[in-house]
Amino acid sequence: MDVFQINQHDDRPIELTVKNYEYKTRKTDPFYVEVNKVMKYYAVCPACKNPIIIVNLYVDKTLDKNKNKMPVHAKHCKYSVTNLAEYSQEAYDDCPLGNPSKFGGSSKHRNKNRSNEIVGLIKDYPVVLYNEIRRITCIDFTEKTFSSMLDTFIKAEGYYYKYINKYNLPYGFLNMQKSIRIFRNKLYYSPFKSEMINSINNSEFFQYKDYIITPKLKDGFYEIELYLANHKIDSEYEIETIDLIIIEKSNGKTNQIFKKTVKIDIDKYINAIDKHRRINGITEAIKLID
Ligand SMILES: [Zn+2]
Repeated sequence: MDVFQINQHDDRPIELTVKNYEYKTRKTDPFYVEVNKVMKYYAVCPACKNPIIIVNLYVDKTLDKNKNKMPVHAKHCKYSVTNLAEYSQEAYDDCPLGNPSKFGGSSKHRNKNRSNEIVGLIKDYPVVLYNEIRRITCIDFTEKTFSSMLDTFIKAEGYYYKYINKYNLPYGFLNMQKSIRIFRNKLYYSPFKSEMINSINNSEFFQYKDYIITPKLKDGFYEIELYLANHKIDSEYEIETIDLIIIEKSNGKTNQIFKKTVKIDIDKYINAIDKHRRINGITEAIKLID
């Protein structure tokens, strides 16, 4: 994974970078530990509180046998680390970061606390979810579309889905929507926005004109939809990816016009929620005049 935490009572993930890790740990015990003359770097998993080990912290330019760069990342340890964390197999088996469930299907858990936490996040911070699904897909979904997505989620009891947790909620939320109509939608800010515009303009039936996804021809029946597919778990690096796919349809013909594999960011959503909570706290003491 590419997040860590140093405090067992804090479940907010911190993005794993050399700078963040050095700053948070102060390069001290019990995070920096010399074992048999080799320095090891530890932290805790924000979700399951088990110890994790940081790999390639100072060697992120190392190449593997296929000459791929080996990035800094963290992996769960299967042992206790003195003065840091006791290893718990049970917590690991349940950890959404170390042992994620495969996306898809509708198998459910029946943990009321867990489902209520998800429902609470959606109900209290809908804007955060709305912003996240737009950021992930680059589609500026209309409020009407967002409302119908919420309907789908609640009706299907998405909050009980095994593969959905508070870290990956926006991805799980999108994934369970099947296909989402994006006809006449605007695009949202994203690093791959220009790539998406090119794909739409190069499609058979659609174009991005006047900041809207619109058919090239006025007459006829055209449809354009987005969906998520092909969720992959890389257990070596403990990261997950999923594909964003856009298809167009007309007269029984379907073309795939865009496909992008994106990494599932598990820190963005829950940290955005936390920020909203803090910002709300700033105005809490302000009173209305009677
Ligand atoms: Zn974990």
